[in-house]
Amino acid sequence: MRPVGFLLCVTLFASSAHAADAKKLIDMTYPFAEDTLHWPTAKPFHLEKTSEGRTAAGYWYSAYEYSGAEHVGTHLDAPFHFAEGKWTTDQIPLARTIGPGVIIDVRSAVGADRDHRLNLQDIRAWEKRFGRIPKESIVLMYSGWGKYWGNRKQYFGTDEPGDVANLHFPGFSQEAAEFLIKQRGVKAVGVDTPSIDHGPSRDFIVHQILGGANVPIFENVAALDRLPAKGATIFAIPMKIKGGSGAPLRIFAQLP
Ligand SMILES: [Zn+2]
Repeated sequence: MRPVGFLLCVTLFASSAHAADAKKLIDMTYPFAEDTLHWPTAKPFHLEKTSEGRTAAGYWYSAYEYSGAEHVGTHLDAPFHFAEGKWTTDQIPLARTIGPGVIIDVRSAVGADRDHRLNLQDIRAWEKRFGRIPKESIVLMYSGWGKYWGNRKQYFGTDEPGDVANLHFPGFSQEAAEFLIKQRGVKAVGVDTPSIDHGPSRDFIVHQILGGANVPIFENVAALDRLPAKGATIFAIPMKIKGGSGAPLRIFAQLP
C-alpha cells in the first residue's frame, strides 16, 4: 500500500471511530418528570429534592431521590414482564437492544382507526418500498402518536385515573409479532404509543408472544418523525434493574 493511501485509511478509520456527530444523533426519549405519562395503574415518576443549595462551606450541592414505576415514560418491557422464566431487565444482552432501525409508518391507517394494529399488510407495504426487513433489526411502529404526548386523554383515550377499560391507541397485531420473530428474526420491537398491544387488548397477546421469544419491547418511544424508514442505528439502553420486569430507557438513534 502506498503511504498516502495508508494515511487516508488511518484518517477515515479514526474519524469513524469517533463519530459522535451531534447532528446525526436523535434522542428518542421523553424526559422523566412528575407529569411524565405512565400506565393508568402505575406510580408516576417522582423526584424528591432532598438536598439543594449553597452549603456552609460555600459550594453548591444538589442530590435528589427518585421513585416511580419501571413502566413510566419511555421504557423497556423485559421479556419477563409477560413471560415467566424469560429475561429480566438485567439479563438482556446489550447486543439485543442495539441494531439497525426499521420504522414502519402507519399514520394513515391510524387516522381511520385509532385502535389500529400494525399488521402483515403494513409490513408487506414497507418491504415493497424498502426491501426485506434485515435479520436482527429493531422494528419500530411510527403512528404519529407523539403529537399527543403530554395530553393523557388524547394519548391513552381516557384520562380517568386507574381507567384501563377505555384505552384507545394503536399497537401491533399478533400476526405481525409472530411474523417478525419467525420470518424476520428481529432483535426488538417498539412503539410510539403506551403499549405494544393496542388499547382495547385484554390478553396482552403481543407482550406474551414477544416476551415468550425473549424479544425486548420499547414503549412511548419519541421522535420517530425524525428517523428515516431505514438506515439509522438504534441504541436502547435500559437502566440495569436486577430482576426487573422493565426499566426506564434512554433510546437514541444515529442517522446514516
Ligand atoms: Zn411497559
